[in-house]
Amino acid sequence: MDFSLTSEQQALLESVDRMMAVHLPPEEVRRRDRAHEPPDHMLRPYADLGLLAIPFPEEYGGLDGPWITVTLAHERLGYHASMAGSLFSTTMGFGGMSILTYGSDAQKKDLLPRLIKGELRFSLALTEPGAGSDAGALITRARRVDGGWVVNGRKTWISGADVADYLVTACRTAEGSEGTAGITMLLIPRQSKGIHMTELEKVGNNCLTSWDIGFDDVFAPEDAVLGEEGRGFRHLMSTLQFSRAGQAANVIGQSQRAVDITVAHAKERVQFGRPIGKFQVVAHRLADMQTRVDQARFVLYHLAWLVDQGRRCRKEAAQAKMVASECLQYVTNHGMQILASAGYALESDMQRLWRDSRLYTFGEGATEIQRDIIAREMGV
Ligand SMILES: Cc1cc2nc3c(=O)[nH]c(=O)nc-3n(C[C@H](O)[C@H](O)[C@H](O)COP(=O)(O)OP(=O)(O)OC[C@H]3O[C@@H](n4cnc5c(N)ncnc54)[C@H](O)[C@@H]3O)c2cc1C
Repeated sequence: MDFSLTSEQQALLESVDRMMAVHLPPEEVRRRDRAHEPPDHMLRPYADLGLLAIPFPEEYGGLDGPWITVTLAHERLGYHASMAGSLFSTTMGFGGMSILTYGSDAQKKDLLPRLIKGELRFSLALTEPGAGSDAGALITRARRVDGGWVVNGRKTWISGADVADYLVTACRTAEGSEGTAGITMLLIPRQSKGIHMTELEKVGNNCLTSWDIGFDDVFAPEDAVLGEEGRGFRHLMSTLQFSRAGQAANVIGQSQRAVDITVAHAKERVQFGRPIGKFQVVAHRLADMQTRVDQARFVLYHLAWLVDQGRRCRKEAAQAKMVASECLQYVTNHGMQILASAGYALESDMQRLWRDSRLYTFGEGATEIQRDIIAREMGV
């Protein structure tokens, strides 16, 4: 087992650091968080660096690179800012990997080269008011008409929908179907007539905008079907390892950032005549924080390795997502305690990491559901 990075991977991570210093430095991250302004300008720099090309075949302009390289880059983006990691996740996971895994040849030829150039954005429109963890309870309906489909229904908590070119929308297409059967994924242009969007306010992840979307007789042409008609849920499951690995990478990057901020503070802040890190209770907490991050990181790298081997990894994908999201809550909670008032100030990066952390144990599949999956994979 070899954990060393190749010289190309090392160089790529250094390039990510340089790109972030130029296009999204810490003060700009803070400003955007306060202004709730997504870092949409970053897609072009990502493309220039080749980040969006890594996992895609050369015939579409990709680099045919391994998933571990995507993971390393993603983790580094998350280290700099959750908003940078989220932009990468939604573009790659919800868009690129879905199209690559179950799109038609025509869709791949049309969409992947543009995605790789940073010209296209996607949002996954799955969740509905009555269908969260139980995604199979969705009722948004796509009815067949001449030349395509007419969609009616409502989706909620859809990330980045305002700037998406396409909404990757899960619709019930089979008349009378229930549960996970009879669902079809449709690539619906976000500018389509009949789409109405309302922004949702929330406590963190300010730069990942969230939208409630009404579909009111929205027409989608025949070639909007992504994958096979009626097999949308299976298709969604087939890309979960990418989206879960993506979220875990982003979250582990943020976790390492939280630990580094806390260590720096513990070395610098003096109380009772010594740096607070010299108090054993603080030092032990720091040791536990770093250990949790390293544990989560190894689970993630193992997942990336399995993905690259083309091996089954449903359990490991659920584990990586669960361990990473719980890790971030653990380290930001302890980080807040160690920074105390310095972390509670709105100008502190720690409070942003702490607020953002609350999302990940339920967004994109709650930890309770991940535990169910792990137990099922264990044959329980
Ligand atoms: C900021 C944000 C961004 C999001 N982005 C997107 C997006 O881009 N696209 C999209 O489609 N969705 C998105 N979502 C929706 C997200 O995926 C859902 O919030 C998530 O699936 C959980 O659904 P829910 O919030 O309805 O919770 P519920 O399903 O109502 O769950 C509530 C609680 O009950 C527990 N629970 C539910 N079922 C079980 C069970 N069987 N066993 C044990 N416990 C259970 C859950 O674990 C949870 O603790 C986003 C949500 C947020 C907040």
